[in-house]
Amino acid sequence: MTEPTVTGLIDDATACIATALDLPRRDARLDARVLAARVLGVEPAWLIAHDTDAVPKRQIDAFQTLLAQRLRGVPIAYLTGRREFYGRPFQVSDAVLIPRPDTELLVELALARIPPEQAVAVLDLGTGSGCIALTLALERPLARVTAVDRSPAALAMAQRNAELLDTRVEFLVSDWFSAIGERRFDLIVSNPPYIAAADPHLARGDVRFEPLAALASGADGLDDLRRLIAAACAHLQPGGALLLEHGHDQAAAVRSLLQQSGIASPQSWNDLAGIPRVSGGQVSK
Ligand code: GLN
Repeated sequence: MTEPTVTGLIDDATACIATALDLPRRDARLDARVLAARVLGVEPAWLIAHDTDAVPKRQIDAFQTLLAQRLRGVPIAYLTGRREFYGRPFQVSDAVLIPRPDTELLVELALARIPPEQAVAVLDLGTGSGCIALTLALERPLARVTAVDRSPAALAMAQRNAELLDTRVEFLVSDWFSAIGERRFDLIVSNPPYIAAADPHLARGDVRFEPLAALASGADGLDDLRRLIAAACAHLQPGGALLLEHGHDQAAAVRSLLQQSGIASPQSWNDLAGIPRVSGGQVSK
């Protein structure tokens, strides 16, 4: 029997993925290419020039193992162990939420509040992979960034990313502010869990394989935002700012929580689709 070629392997896998996960062929093909590139240890572009190359048996076996997991629905980012965020590669495992492009809005708003020439103290609550904290530290080398997570496994992943991206962030195991003591910051950011516990979205697609503790937050999805907002002002310097990512229908509720907590004029900011997905504001000077 002749060995399958690169193209043969990708074509077969594309058909299987499209059927099993009910994905458009184009998406299924992208998945198949990413997995093939991973197993062959090449960049996806390499596959085009080598489409008729035979694939050795050992690599076919490794590919089939990954493919079987993908067919069960395991997200590509967990199978390859990485995902890009703000143009940089981050290692991920099922201990952390997969970084989403949505969260780049939070990063942009945070960067606008960190002057490059000042040693601003920044806190990232529920850092997960570390994608927010490390991006801020890399974009603003003078900032003093602290990142906390309740999950030691998540924090270990964030720490690994700090090493790989060669940047320094202070990491603490902390359930929101539990290990922060009396410390105050110039800027506090968070992408907390904010999905309602009964949201059917939690039972679909990639989300099924992500840590539920990083996604779901009580009956209305606001449990963690309530706790976090209630405690945040006591940890902000005079004039300090708080920025929070939230769900597409939570902006008004989050602004009202911010107002109750002592932030005078909370604002919300829209994502590229025109949906308010980040809210926040400043405490008085
Ligand atoms: N935006 C994510 C989703 O809808 C949820 C992220 C979060 O809860 N922080 O899957």
